[in-house]
Amino acid sequence: QVIDPEEINIMDVLGSGSCGVVESATIRSTTMAVKTMYKNNNKDTLKRILRDVRIMDLCDSPFIVSSYGYFYSSVKICMEIMTTCCDKLLRRLYHSKLDFFPEFVAGRIVHSAISALEYLKEEHSIIHRDVKPSNILFDENGNVKLCDFGISGFLINSMAHSNNAGCPPYMAPERLTIETNSTYDIRSDVWSLGITIFQLVTGKYPFPLNDMEFYTLTTIADLNLPSPSLSDNPSNSYTHEFINFIDLCLMKNVKDRPNYDILMQHDFFLDYDPQMSQRYKIRKINDTTDEIEEWFSNAILNSKKDDEN
Ligand code: ADP
Ligand code: MG
Repeated sequence: QVIDPEEINIMDVLGSGSCGVVESATIRSTTMAVKTMYKNNNKDTLKRILRDVRIMDLCDSPFIVSSYGYFYSSVKICMEIMTTCCDKLLRRLYHSKLDFFPEFVAGRIVHSAISALEYLKEEHSIIHRDVKPSNILFDENGNVKLCDFGISGFLINSMAHSNNAGCPPYMAPERLTIETNSTYDIRSDVWSLGITIFQLVTGKYPFPLNDMEFYTLTTIADLNLPSPSLSDNPSNSYTHEFINFIDLCLMKNVKDRPNYDILMQHDFFLDYDPQMSQRYKIRKINDTTDEIEEWFSNAILNSKKDDEN
């Protein structure tokens, strides 16, 4: 079905990032999120964006935001609308001095994100390249979905050293060293997910962050310096499985970092895998499922209340 850009009725701004703005809109009574990329006259960049958008169109996974279509003329991408992203919620929790994401919610996010990344790799041979809190979306029912693969990742890579203040780097050590070969290892996304989850549960970016982004990046890239670990967190009440899972994601040397096959066999992942819990009829996990859904719906409700005040 061909949609005319004229048919898009923009409603609200959902947010904006380094590559464009995202708005809610209705098209023929369907509500969706429309991302409009900033004008970029570089031919290669445009070609790359369009290639990635076409792949997004082919994706069909409960863990990935689905696409309704796109426009070449103004580079607009129409996609499934979700309630909010992990980044917005984290900032909200921070300002309201509330507890950050609990471990059982991190479990749901890890399960969805790893499932999405594995799907992209196995079914479409693509790597996300831009895993970070603002690209993990969710709704009231606790559905967690990944968006923006490849698209902004490419742009951000090419701008990595421009003065893009305020955006903490989620790039793996091997992406930051000069002698890196141009092939992007899938395990670089595993690193970014580790940093993301660390930040969601502790409320802070795990590396020293000051005016000198260069200093932060050197600390990450230096394989002789230790990685952060959840076990060092003063308010550490995490399970061994969780601490170990994040430690594995944050192995500095990419050769030591596990791939999806291994992570999907890990006890922490399996604890949050609905198929596993069904197979073994573990009641504890079913309780957790209710708890997870309740947490998401309360978090969204509270942030809406906050908006009204
Ligand atoms: P970035 O991810 O770098 O912050 P984006 O332009 O990709 O910038 O997105 C800006 C914001 O728009 C995100 O933080 C997110 O909260 C929101 N957003 C993006 N896509 C959707 C969507 N499909 N549904 C709801 N909100 C979205
Ligand atoms: Mg994004």
